Amino acid sequence: MGNVKFGPAGNPINYKGKTPSVCSYINQIGLDAYEYQATYGVRISKQSALALKENSDENDVLVSMHAPYYINLSSNKDDVIERSVKRLVQAAKASEWMGAYRTVFHPGFYTTYTPEEAMKQCKNSIKDIQEALEALGVENYTLAPETTGKKSQLGNLDEIIEICSSFDHFEPTVDFAHVHARSGGSIKNKTDYNKIFQKLEDALGLKSLHSHFTHVEYTDAGERKHHGVEDEDYGPPIEPLLEEIVECGWNVTIICESPYLDYDALIMKGLYQNISKI
Ligand SMILES: [Zn+2]
Repeated sequence: MGNVKFGPAGNPINYKGKTPSVCSYINQIGLDAYEYQATYGVRISKQSALALKENSDENDVLVSMHAPYYINLSSNKDDVIERSVKRLVQAAKASEWMGAYRTVFHPGFYTTYTPEEAMKQCKNSIKDIQEALEALGVENYTLAPETTGKKSQLGNLDEIIEICSSFDHFEPTVDFAHVHARSGGSIKNKTDYNKIFQKLEDALGLKSLHSHFTHVEYTDAGERKHHGVEDEDYGPPIEPLLEEIVECGWNVTIICESPYLDYDALIMKGLYQNISKI
């Protein structure tokens, strides 16, 4: 059976301490993963990041980082590309300090481009990022483009696979809510999840995955709002995902992005433990 970890996107709801010690709390409440949120900019100091790494090692918590939202590697504007490259380079550098095994990011928007043109621009930006990281001597990083939730965004599952198969240091992040939202609610059962895992295995040879989960509300344009995993009005369903994970035996990290972060991560972990006992 695979090693499956659960944790919150950001600091747990009732955590009052400092971020570098957050993994002690996460371990104490029974979770095993933590995604540091640099979503509004990489502001953590090197010293704090190193302290976070030490704390996570001591408490056996797997750390990842969510890079800033304001990244658009497929923009048709040079200054936007330049800023986006810079932000992602900063994020990868800080990820190395904090020992983050993934640096999650949203690749960008199509804007005026066709999907093919946007992909080409995105790949050119990634070449710039890799050159910059090499020049800085940053070696321990894994950039993890995330499946995006809006139809205006570059980043359906096929596009994420294409990016990851084109570059070293790249692994996918699958946000199941985003896949569900941008496809108009396509994930209904275990077979639907199995197709995603199978596709990743066939295309990238994977047996492990970094992922995000929440229940999600969507419109024709895609993602609208996150809801709790116990809110049955919204999908995608959690049980068939956990059943699929037990069956396929992959190592999977599930970061909870619902409004109830650590509470819902614990609910998912409890469900997983029940399913894996059967
Ligand atoms: Zn996500």
